[in-house]
Amino acid sequence: MLSSLSSTAEPRIAPPSTPTEGGFSPVQGLPSLVGLTRSGLAAHLVASGVSEREVRMRGAQLWHWIYHRGITRFDEMTNVGKALRERLVATASLARPEVVTEQVSRDGTRKWVLRMPSHPQDHGGRAAEIECVYIPEADRGTLCVSSQVGCTLTCSFCHTGTQRLVRNLTAAEIAAQVVVARDRLGDWPGGIRPTDGLVPEAGDRAITNVVFMGMGEPLYNLDNVVDAVEVMADGEGLTLSRRRITVSTSGVVPELPGLGERAGAMLAVSLHAVRDDLRNELVPLNRRYPIAALLQACRDYPGVSNARRITFEYVMLKGVNDSDSDARELVRLLRGIPAKINLIPFNPWPGTAYECSPWERIERFSDIVFRAGYASPVRTPRGRDILAACGQLKSETEKLSARARMMAAEASALEGACRT
Ligand code: SAH
Ligand code: SF4
Repeated sequence: MLSSLSSTAEPRIAPPSTPTEGGFSPVQGLPSLVGLTRSGLAAHLVASGVSEREVRMRGAQLWHWIYHRGITRFDEMTNVGKALRERLVATASLARPEVVTEQVSRDGTRKWVLRMPSHPQDHGGRAAEIECVYIPEADRGTLCVSSQVGCTLTCSFCHTGTQRLVRNLTAAEIAAQVVVARDRLGDWPGGIRPTDGLVPEAGDRAITNVVFMGMGEPLYNLDNVVDAVEVMADGEGLTLSRRRITVSTSGVVPELPGLGERAGAMLAVSLHAVRDDLRNELVPLNRRYPIAALLQACRDYPGVSNARRITFEYVMLKGVNDSDSDARELVRLLRGIPAKINLIPFNPWPGTAYECSPWERIERFSDIVFRAGYASPVRTPRGRDILAACGQLKSETEKLSARARMMAAEASALEGACRT
């Protein structure tokens, strides 16, 4: 098994990627084409003077180079005329989000902190940082992407919920996480794989699945998530099947039909409790959209069937939600919904009051669920040593509160006044 290969090695922190000419380092002031949708690319081509007649063909060429070949320099686009290449160099870049750190867990899980190019919503000129995690397994490689910087929701057991800075990632920033991960894993045609033996060998795809289980609530950023899924699933580029892309939500009920109709991705719902009083505490969004409303939206979810089941995630919290009667109530509640149940051992983080249920308790819970006819895999915690597991993600970017921003603005105005 891939995960056992280096079980005794210490986790490694690698230096960030070295800027290369025309490659990873953001080209000052120029927008990057990496992560754009087909229509976004077309709009850039039109703006840089390509005629309407040619846009389709040129767009297809760029698409192939960026998303199929993973190139980082315009001069590698050998079938694009020199004149257009020069225009592109002058107006755009192929920059990726910057890799600030790369950590490799003993079990092969990799966590990258990525710094996004600046965005008008970034406070105090601080670029947003997000985390993105790669989990290799024997039969698949899963990339866990973020949809927001931080999260506005405050689930009591989740580390991300304690981060104060929040903004939506753009569709390009979401899709570009796949591009960066492919760069780092040598997962392009002819790419060179890391030599630690923890990433599948060249020939097999290193990234086969994507889950929106990193930072943020994807359904609070639905338009951009839909566009990013479009880029990831495109058959002539990143070619990830929509059935291998899963969007996880804490239960933003009014957005569920839109997700089903527009993204065609698989759905995971973070349930975590079977009674409203407890779920109100664990997932405060439950006060607005209680369990009954959430489960009704799941019953009505577009495209749900036995072949396209909804995954219900259930974090195992010692003495909180892990009793036999919780397990029995869980299967009763889900009756009639094509469902899978994913039991997640709680991943602790500094400062949390929760503990993970003991292993025997998780097994007993899982047995009850299994006997009721549900596959109930217990998700093996991955990358715990580098805080890369579910709910442990939290970047250092912090939001300045409205008051702090006002004080900072006042301070700089004062400073300006003193200087003059
Ligand atoms: N906001 C979305 C997606 C990101 S969280 C959501 O809540 O679904 C991805 C998954 O990790 C969710 O099921 C979430 O409940 C779970 N999670 C959060 N913190 C966790 C922790 N400390 N241990 C285990 N799972 C956790
Ligand atoms: Fe946000 Fe999901 Fe964490 Fe809740 S569990 S705070 S919705 S990221």
